[in-house]
Amino acid sequence: MNHPKEEKTLVLLKPDALQRNLLGEIIHRFERRGLKIIGMKMIALDEAILKEHYAHLKDKPFFKGIQDFMSSYPVVAMAISGVRAVSMVRAMCGPTKGYEALPGTIRGDFSMSTQANLVHASDPVENPEAEVNRFFKPHELFSYKKIEFDILLAPDELK
Ligand code: ADP
Repeated sequence: MNHPKEEKTLVLLKPDALQRNLLGEIIHRFERRGLKIIGMKMIALDEAILKEHYAHLKDKPFFKGIQDFMSSYPVVAMAISGVRAVSMVRAMCGPTKGYEALPGTIRGDFSMSTQANLVHASDPVENPEAEVNRFFKPHELFSYKKIEFDILLAPDELK
C-alpha cells in the first residue's frame, strides 16, 4: 500500500555509526522527517556484495580501504520509502566528505572524514530501487500505509 509517488532508497549505517553509538540517532532523523522504513536489518558485508555495490569505485586507489572498512563490523541496512525520498535522504546525509558537510546534515553533525562518513544513501543515478533489491529480498520489504501520511503532504503534492 505504498503510494504510487513514493520512491524507494537504500541507506547503510556504516561500521563507524555502529561503533559510535549513532544508529538510533540516525534512524530517528529519518523517522522524524516522515520517511517510512520499509525494511531494516543488521548484516555483515562480504567481498562479493561490496564489489557490486562499489563497482563505480573499483579502480580507485582507496577501493581496498573501503572494502576493509565496510566489512570491519556489521552494518545496518535500511530500505526507506517516501515521496521524493531519494533526494531528501541524500540531502539529509550531506556530501561525501564529512569535513565539507554542513551542520544539520548527518555527516556535517557527526563526521569529519571522507571514508568514515557514517552513512551510504542511494545516488539517483545509481538506480536506487536496484540498490534496495541488492540488499533486501522481496519478503524482507514491507508495503504499508503510514497513518500520518495524509497530514504529511498536501493532497496536490500526491497527484
Ligand atoms: P557517496 O557515499 O557520498 O555516494 P561515493 O559513491 O563517491 O560517495 O563513494 C562511496 C564511499 O567511498 C564514500 O561514502 C566513502 O566512504 C568512500 N570514499 C569515497 N571517496 C573516497 C576517498 N577519496 N578516500 C577514501 N574513501 C572514499
